[in-house]
Parts: sequence; structure tokens; C-alpha cells
Amino acid sequence: MHKVRLKGTSKTFRVGKIVCLARNYSEHIKELGNAVPEKPVLFIKPASSIIGHREAVIIPTISQNCQHEVELALLIGKWGKNITAKDALGHVAGYGVALDMTLRDVQTELKQKGLPWEIAKGFDTACPLSDFVPAAEVGDPQNLRITLKINEQLRQDGNTAQMMLRIPEIIQAVSEIFTLEEGDVILTGTPSGVGTVRSGDRMQAEIEKVGCLEIPVQ
Ligand code: ZN
Repeated sequence: MHKVRLKGTSKTFRVGKIVCLARNYSEHIKELGNAVPEKPVLFIKPASSIIGHREAVIIPTISQNCQHEVELALLIGKWGKNITAKDALGHVAGYGVALDMTLRDVQTELKQKGLPWEIAKGFDTACPLSDFVPAAEVGDPQNLRITLKINEQLRQDGNTAQMMLRIPEIIQAVSEIFTLEEGDVILTGTPSGVGTVRSGDRMQAEIEKVGCLEIPVQ
């Protein structure tokens, strides 16, 4: 079980599921050589994959290519199914910084075989997550600089304005398939610049107005 905090409040949320959107920034789709999806590509990470600020990512021995993906995280504050785009932002309690750690070699091999690739995305420590900032304090979530540095070097540098599916449409699409409950988290995709991390690296993920997440690689 993992709890997350909503900053400036006494409220904590027990995270249920983490629903992730793949391929939501066009430059990132190009760098991986993927096709632009006709429908949203969704997958789930278990809550057991969450670690907090300054906890370490541990790369499973089955992978030689663990990659970082910095993403804006949405914390769901109230129950909903078939949420309309118009109502969607009312279901967001707060925004946070997430890393969607990915065993790219394992994922690629499983994809090629037509097999499920959960293990490449859902292993223990695969979801570093910051505390959340109340939605009202963030203002427009669709215009935030999002960056990732490794050992002080800038690797990813995007803006949430570059999302193809915007946040209300993401919530609408996700809630058609998965009922959203208080404490669920949605990851909204990563900008370009993903790359491999190695033991001893230190990642610093940052989203304007939302916060910073420092994660070492063990
Ligand atoms: Zn991702």
C-alpha cells in the first residue's frame, strides 16, 4: 500500500491503480519509431511500484536498458465513470511529478512476440512519484515546463502544452474503460529525450509549479 500527500493539507490518499498513457507527445513517438495511435494506448502500473522522493530505483537483473520517462501525474480526488471532458478537471485533486521507469529491452522483446509487457513497466520501484500540489494552486496544467536531468545534465525538456491528447480528454478516455476512484493516479505521457540510466546515476525531474523529484539509481 502506498499513500501520497496533498501538499498544504492534512489529506493523504491511498493509491489504488496507476493508469498510464503511452505515446502522447509526438516528438517522443518519433524517437521510438512508433506509429501515432488512433486510440489512446493505456497500460497500468501496480501501486506497489511506487517509490517516493530520494528513494532509489533498483533495475531488475533481466534488463540492460532501463530508461527514464518524466511525466505529469494527476491525482484523482473523486469517483467517476464515463467522465465527460467538461467535468474532467473537477475530478483532479492535484498534480505531481512522476517517472515512468521502463525496461526498454524487455518491453521491445515482449512487444515483438505479441506478449504483454507489464513487467517492463510495473516492476518494483518503476514509479517514482512526488507529493501532489492542489489543483487550484497549479492554474493551467496544460502549460508547464517539464524537464529531467541526469547527473545535472538536461535530457528531457518539454512542455505539457505539447500533449496530443489533452488532460480532460485523457480522463474521459481512461474513465470509459476504468472506473476512477479517489487515490487513483494517471500518468500523461513523456516528452522526447528518453534514455538509459545506470547504477550511480541521479535523476532530477521537475515540473513548473508542481515540484521536483530526486531519484538515485542504485
Ligand atoms: Zn510513459
